[in-house]
Amino acid sequence: MPISVEHIVDALSSLGGEAHLDKIVERVALIAPPPLPRDPGASIRARIQERCAEAKSYKGGENLFESKFGVNARRGVWKLRLDQLSPSNPDNIQDGSDAFISAPEGKAALRIHLRRERSKKLIDAFKATLNDPCCEACGMRFSDVYGDLGAGYIEAHHKIPVSSLDEASCTHISDLAALCANCHRIIHKNGLMPVEDLARFLSRRRAGKD
Ligand SMILES: [Zn+2]
Ligand SMILES: [Zn+2]
Repeated sequence: MPISVEHIVDALSSLGGEAHLDKIVERVALIAPPPLPRDPGASIRARIQERCAEAKSYKGGENLFESKFGVNARRGVWKLRLDQLSPSNPDNIQDGSDAFISAPEGKAALRIHLRRERSKKLIDAFKATLNDPCCEACGMRFSDVYGDLGAGYIEAHHKIPVSSLDEASCTHISDLAALCANCHRIIHKNGLMPVEDLARFLSRRRAGKD
């Protein structure tokens, strides 16, 4: 089984965004399904360099990695590029998340969170379980507001608790919540607050208690 770029991103994220190749190899071994290639270090370095614009073997596409000491320094410390989550990409809801992103671990945690929300297969499987989806926080249904233009639209949010965001665990459908775009943003803006807390807050507000 070849090692995927996603495994390397997840490994680096869980290591705080920066690590020596040896550490990355150890972490990928925990995440990637076995068997690993015979020389996992070489394979991982090759994958990294294909996504590192400074490297000769850069293949184009998303520029995900950089070498801490320069690609020619041969010291093997690799970093995730912080700008890989461009705020201009609508899938990368990052605005205001700095509320809880004060430490490098927080940044890595947010990256894991966003990564999981972009894992297409799982998101598709999750959405397939929803019939006429509505927002779990405010109850809004896109088809009610936008008719056919919005029918079936919903966003998937990963409910993983902030405390365990740095763990290299896998995502299950039950970890996902269906949210409208507004509630999804508000949750990200407020330190990935629990969906239930926003739901409670909104219903209290509607009842005129806040
Ligand atoms: Zn909502
Ligand atoms: Zn989210």
